[in-house]
Amino acid sequence: MKYFAVIGIGRFGYSVAKTLTEMGCQVLAIDTSEEKLRQLEGLVTQVVQADATDEKALRAAGIKDVDAVIVAIGQNMEASVLVSLILKDMGVPYIVSKATNRLHAKVLRKIGCDRVVLPEEEMGMRVARSLVSPNILDELDLSEHVRIYEIKVPKVLVGKSLGELDFRKKFGLNVVAVRSDDGKLNTSPTAETPLEDGDTIFVIGDETSIERFDKQVQRMEKGK
Ligand code: ATP
Repeated sequence: MKYFAVIGIGRFGYSVAKTLTEMGCQVLAIDTSEEKLRQLEGLVTQVVQADATDEKALRAAGIKDVDAVIVAIGQNMEASVLVSLILKDMGVPYIVSKATNRLHAKVLRKIGCDRVVLPEEEMGMRVARSLVSPNILDELDLSEHVRIYEIKVPKVLVGKSLGELDFRKKFGLNVVAVRSDDGKLNTSPTAETPLEDGDTIFVIGDETSIERFDKQVQRMEKGK
């Protein structure tokens, strides 16, 4: 994917458009507000002032040529849903839409958006999780509930092998890679792979699995 359209240049849309540009992608930015577009002028490939609920205006802007569209209209839920529906009907290959609440997200999924993001809620959860479980360094959504978690190996697990810890059976977690302190990545870990001090593991699982793992680590740390 190389050519993107971002509709709605609020804080979220601006950040997406700017980052895509910095990553070498072509970006078409659309907003009803001239003022919002001005911040991106000269930075992105093209800016178009238009009401995105107007299909003709979207076609005129060249939306048919993009690989993906990010609908970053938040507060105006009606416009966000309408625009997503129009884009879906137009056959845009990949649509990411921003939702402001769970119901909004549900509607966007029903329409057929390929990805729905709830930035405030997701970031809030991440911050809370990183405070309670400081070993979780990062996470990547694979679906609504399943994620890849990057976990700093807790001291209590150092010296044990993956088989001994029995991640899959005990916690429902699949360890897909182990990175050592010097950056060496083992992408085919086996039951014999030992966990060493400074290692980082990458596991696939859902929230319940990771909570179970976290509780077990805390119990071990307390010596129970
Ligand atoms: P953020 O939190 O990212 O700053 P937000 O969730 O508050 O944004 P809004 O400010 O409601 O979202 O919308 C983001 C942008 O979308 C605004 O710049 C607004 O002008 C634009 N926008 C709203 N409706 C339309 C529309 N129909 N067509 C094009 N742009 C629109």
